[in-house]
Amino acid sequence: MTVQNLEHFMSELALKNSGEKEFCQAVQEVMEDVFPFIREHPEFNDPYLLERLTEPDRAVMFRVPWLDDQGIRRVNRGYRVQFCNVLGPYKGGLRFHPTVSLSIIKFLAFEQTFKNSLLPMGLGGGKGGSDFDPRGKSDQEIFKFCQSFMTELIRHIENRRDVPAGDIGVGSREIGYLFGQYKRIKDDGAGVLTGKDAIYGGSLLRPEATGYGCVYFAEEVLKHYSEGLEGKTCCVSGSGNVAIYAAEKLNALGARVLTLSDSSGMIYCAEGLDQEKLSYLMVAKFRQRRRLSEIAPTLGCEYFEGKTPWHVPCRLAFPCATQNEIDAEAAAQLGQNGCRWVLEGANMPVTREAGQVFRKFGVVAVPGKAANAGGVAVSGLEMAQNATGLPWSRSEVDEKLKLIMRDVHNRCLDYGKSGKDINYIKGANLSGFVRLAMSIQAQGF
Ligand code: NDP
Repeated sequence: MTVQNLEHFMSELALKNSGEKEFCQAVQEVMEDVFPFIREHPEFNDPYLLERLTEPDRAVMFRVPWLDDQGIRRVNRGYRVQFCNVLGPYKGGLRFHPTVSLSIIKFLAFEQTFKNSLLPMGLGGGKGGSDFDPRGKSDQEIFKFCQSFMTELIRHIENRRDVPAGDIGVGSREIGYLFGQYKRIKDDGAGVLTGKDAIYGGSLLRPEATGYGCVYFAEEVLKHYSEGLEGKTCCVSGSGNVAIYAAEKLNALGARVLTLSDSSGMIYCAEGLDQEKLSYLMVAKFRQRRRLSEIAPTLGCEYFEGKTPWHVPCRLAFPCATQNEIDAEAAAQLGQNGCRWVLEGANMPVTREAGQVFRKFGVVAVPGKAANAGGVAVSGLEMAQNATGLPWSRSEVDEKLKLIMRDVHNRCLDYGKSGKDINYIKGANLSGFVRLAMSIQAQGF
C-alpha cells in the first residue's frame, strides 16, 4: 500500500487507537508536514512506513499497589511505552500525575522519539508514568509508591535497553527512591535512570538543562531576526523544574520574566522576577513544595486565582507547564498583545487550533520536540558520564548543552527554512522524520 492521504491515514489511526485523543493529536501534527514531503520524496513512499512509524514497539500497563499513611491499601496504574529503539535505547521520562493515561504516555513517547532523533547522540524514544497524584502525599507515601512502581518497572528497563528519567511529578527525590529500589533488587544500577542527584552519579546541570536549553534555543531563534533577549518581556507558565530554570536563565540574559503559574493560578511581577525572587521560589517550590498563592505576597507579586499567564502582554511566551495549555483564545490574546515568539518548554502545550491562530498572527512557534530537547540531551550526557565513570564539570556540561541546542536549531533550519521564513514546526518534524524513516528502512522494521 502506498501512502494515501492524510485524512484516510488519520481515520485509520484513530480507529486503531480508539479514544487516544492526545496520541492522535501528536501524530496528526507531525503527519501534516510529512504527507506533502513524501509526495516530493518518493524514496519515503514506502508501503506502511507511516504505520510502522506510529506503532509503538510495546506498551506495558501494570498495577502499582501501595499502603497509605492510614494503613489503607491503594492501587494505581503504571505505564511504560517503549515506542521506538531504531536509534538507540528507549529514553524518556516518567510522569506521576492524575491525568496520566495510555493516550498521554503514548503521545509523550511519540514526541520523545522525534525529539531524540534531533539530537546528535543515538537515543530511542519511550515514556512512562502513573496516574498517582503526588500532591498532598507525605514523603513516606511517595517513597512507598516509588518502591512499588520500580518493583514492576524493573522487568522492563536496563541501562542499554531503556533508561527512564523524570517528568511532571518526578523530580530528583522520586528518581532517588526509584533508583534505590532498582539497586536493592539488581545490585548494579549505574546508568539505568537519569536525573539522579549529582552526589551519587547524576550529571551536574541536569535539573537546569531543559529550562536553560529552551532559552539557549530562544537565543538562536532571535539571532535570525537580528534581535537578542536583553530587555525582552517574557511570560513563563508553570513553576516546576522547566519553568523555574527557564526563568532563571532568561533573567540572567537580561530578559524580564513577568509571570509563572501553577494549576491553581498565576503570579505577575511587573518589574520582573529577579535572581533573589527566583532563589526564594526554588526553595519554596522544590524543597518546601508550597503553592504560588502562598508564596506570592513574600515575593511581592500579584496572584491571580484560576488565571493563566497568556493575557499578559509580552514579546516571548514560554509555556512550560503541560499539554494543551494554550488554546485558540489564549493564542489570540498573545498575538493581539504583540507576542512574537513562542518556545515550548512543555510537550505539546499548544492546541492545533491555537497553532493556526499563531500562524495568522505571524507568531513564530518552536515545538517542544526542539525547544525542550536540552533535558534529554543532558540525560544523554549523564549516560555517557556513567558509562565512563568520569564526571564533567558544570561548565563543560553547559558548553555541550549550548552546542547541542545550536545543533538542534540548525537541524530545524535544514527542513524548515525557506528564504527568510523559518517554520520550526515543519523543520523539527521533517528532520526527525527523515532520520527515523531512514533508520527504520535500513533495519527493516
Ligand atoms: P514539574 O512537575 O516540575 O512542574 C510542572 C508544573 O506545571 C507545575 O507548576 C504544575 O503545577 C504545572 N501543571 C501541571 N499540570 C498542569 C495543568 N493541568 N494545568 C496547569 N498547570 C499544570 O514538571 P516539569 O517542569 O518537569 O515538566 C513541565 C513540562 O515540561 C511537561 O510538559 C514535561 O513533559 C515537559 N518536559 C520536562 C522535561 C524535564 O526535564 N523535566 C524535559 C522535557 C519536557 P501544579 O504544581 O499545580 O500541578
